[in-house]
Amino acid sequence: MRLLNSKPTLFCGRDTVFLPTSKLAGMKFTFYGHATFSTELNGKTVLFDPFITPNEAAKDIDINSIKADFILLSHGHGDHVADAVAIAKNTGATVIAAPEVIGWLSKQGIENVFPMNHGGKRAFDFGTLKCVNAVHSSGMPDGSYGGNPMGFVITFGEKSFYYSGDTALTMDMMLIPRWASLDFAVLCIGDNYTMGYEDAVEAARMAGAPKVVGVHYDTFGHIVIDKGLARKAFDEAGIELLLPAIGESIEL
Ligand SMILES: [Zn+2]
Repeated sequence: MRLLNSKPTLFCGRDTVFLPTSKLAGMKFTFYGHATFSTELNGKTVLFDPFITPNEAAKDIDINSIKADFILLSHGHGDHVADAVAIAKNTGATVIAAPEVIGWLSKQGIENVFPMNHGGKRAFDFGTLKCVNAVHSSGMPDGSYGGNPMGFVITFGEKSFYYSGDTALTMDMMLIPRWASLDFAVLCIGDNYTMGYEDAVEAARMAGAPKVVGVHYDTFGHIVIDKGLARKAFDEAGIELLLPAIGESIEL
């Protein structure tokens, strides 16, 4: 056991043991509905998968008020890229995504882009980004090919988190503790198109996340969940589940 380091010590599987969680300064996390959120790391705002204007539940969010230095897109589906072009134009943010998603953005005049793909790792101003596997599909809103869907592991100093993107539970998540000791994970929990909350509990165990922000639920009929049962499933696993309200900011 590492006694001096307050980061969690993690073992994959059902016997997960955690040391007290990190006392490092918190990171501001803002939820914008569906799978859209931003983090503030090293003074940079990173916005993920912007889908706001078509989301009735997020009608009080004005996309013109959203700040972003970077926009990360996990894959090309409309419920992850709907506002990417508008916000990239508004903010001048650098958009990071699969090359095929970048191709679609370029056709719409977005030039400040950075292509990455599975397995790639690169240092940016906001931290080191590693692109990891997601088991899903990816096509662009215009029907063009969207490349491989991705998840992201981001590390800045001692702080690390994993965003699953849209994915099924996959054994690949067991690789994540080899790359990062996570403070938290942002996981899809809505079922039907992605893993549901039961599989997300297992994903958190595999990835070594002591805390999970649930996303990609309740936006449309097929992904409405019983939040009480979701909380119970995470409680029973000893993993904290956070379900911030749309527009709410929390410290992580
Ligand atoms: Zn989706």
